[in-house]
Amino acid sequence: MNSIPPLHITSGRRSRPEIILIFGSALAVIAIVAIVTSLLIRERASARDFAARSASNIVQLIDADVQRNTELYDTSLQGMISSWQRPEIRNLTPPMRQLVLFDRSTAAPYKGELLLLDKNGDTLADSLSVKPRTINLADRAHFRAHRDNSNLDLLISDPFKLHSGYRDWCISFSRRMSSPDGEFQGIASGAMRLVYFKELFKSLNIGRDSNVNLINTHGFMLARQPNTGTKDLIGEDFSQSPNFKRVLLEGAGTFVSVSTLDNTERMYTFSKVGSLPLIVVVGQSLEEVYAIWLRNAWLVGSATGILCFGILWLTFLLGRELSLRQKAEYELAELAATDSLTGLANRRRLDQVIKAEWARGLRSGKPMSLLMIDVDHFKAFNDRHGHHGGDEALRKVATAIQQRIRRPGDLAARYGGEEFSVVLAETPLNGAIIIAESIRATIEALPRFANDDQPITVSIGIASQLSQPGDTLGGLISVADRALYQAKRKGRNRVECGVSPAFNPLPRPA
Ligand code: GH3
Ligand code: MG
Ligand code: MG
Repeated sequence: MNSIPPLHITSGRRSRPEIILIFGSALAVIAIVAIVTSLLIRERASARDFAARSASNIVQLIDADVQRNTELYDTSLQGMISSWQRPEIRNLTPPMRQLVLFDRSTAAPYKGELLLLDKNGDTLADSLSVKPRTINLADRAHFRAHRDNSNLDLLISDPFKLHSGYRDWCISFSRRMSSPDGEFQGIASGAMRLVYFKELFKSLNIGRDSNVNLINTHGFMLARQPNTGTKDLIGEDFSQSPNFKRVLLEGAGTFVSVSTLDNTERMYTFSKVGSLPLIVVVGQSLEEVYAIWLRNAWLVGSATGILCFGILWLTFLLGRELSLRQKAEYELAELAATDSLTGLANRRRLDQVIKAEWARGLRSGKPMSLLMIDVDHFKAFNDRHGHHGGDEALRKVATAIQQRIRRPGDLAARYGGEEFSVVLAETPLNGAIIIAESIRATIEALPRFANDDQPITVSIGIASQLSQPGDTLGGLISVADRALYQAKRKGRNRVECGVSPAFNPLPRPA
């Protein structure tokens, strides 16, 4: 048996409160995720800024130290030159001259040899020996540079290894010694042991997986702490490394890149040391830069995830509850609108639908039809088959009626007792006659009930009307009633159309 769709409550689709609940929760979750994400992004940026600031402070500190040391060397070299150019000092006894030329500052442990060379590159004075060692440095790049260019100030060499003394990595500072008329007289040079910077870098707290580098503008590593692996990188040429090229190009700043040495992503903060050809680079491991942020992000992310999951879970539970309630309401409404014996719509529902269709007809200007169906001689049928048999027959009649109406707007209902009604929405009289006749014929053709010698038949009265302002619904029903009475009077098992002067019945088809 087909069930009747209730008027206002529909099942299957989500109800309005359910949609509001889902939409509200989704919005809340999206808002929470968006806020937390933007906060985490900001936190990440500030972790990066903080690391860059710390690295920049270290770079500035080293800058200042390197500049101070360079100035010390430069002062010593200028002192050596100006002393040597004074004949009274040149003519002192060698031990006295040694004392005057190389002051006490030159005795610091990181300082290598200080030499004064003549224009041929031979030693005039040597900080390591009162009697200068016989060394010729005419082929050294810095010697040649000073000899060939009178405008050079202080020159800082690429790293080299000392052949005597400490025998470790050094750089040299050198200055040209010129006569008053600018003629080349030789150079003063001082070596600095690069171990000094290594010790300086060790004293800085830069983090576990980070490093500090002093590199010259030719790309040679002067000092690095800590070493990468076991290899000492001092003196290595990095001029072809893309990171070095970028550092050289930008002069000062911060960028993130992968280290060519250990393939670790690092944040490089760097700056040139004043006007010197030296660059300090601090490379911080990104893992370390974002370590605290990452821990917090995990914490906040997990808490947010749990919160959002909780909201969605609650929404799901609430939605299910709402949907169950809606289903119960739907079932109740269906129950309240159904006739329990036949499963057709009941009288209550019939009244609702007739009123609704009547109003719709008024608006659309399309006719509606109403069939009143009454089982013939049913009292006698009951007498022959008992009330139980009568009930069974009413169910068969109901099924037959329901089968004959197919349009979604049509409704079959039990009017009461052995009477039924059919509302045919937007159906003119000729259509209603066809349906009524098909109902009548279907019922007449039903198999005989318990070998009864008489078939079950029905009489049908039709009212069809193009509803107009001023017409009443009661009028329509009584026209159908009168037509039904006509059908009974004319012998039953037939269809009659009601006509009333109060209405505007459509002409009967020929
Ligand atoms: P008519 O052809 O003039 O309609 O004759 P009728 O006997 O059908 O009409 P009447 O109004 O005299 O009798 C209707 C009978 O229908 C009375 C009652 O016994 C029977 N009836 C009404 N409702 C039910 C029901 O729910 N179950 C059963 N079994 N019988 C019903
Ligand atoms: Mg009756
Ligand atoms: Mg009857």
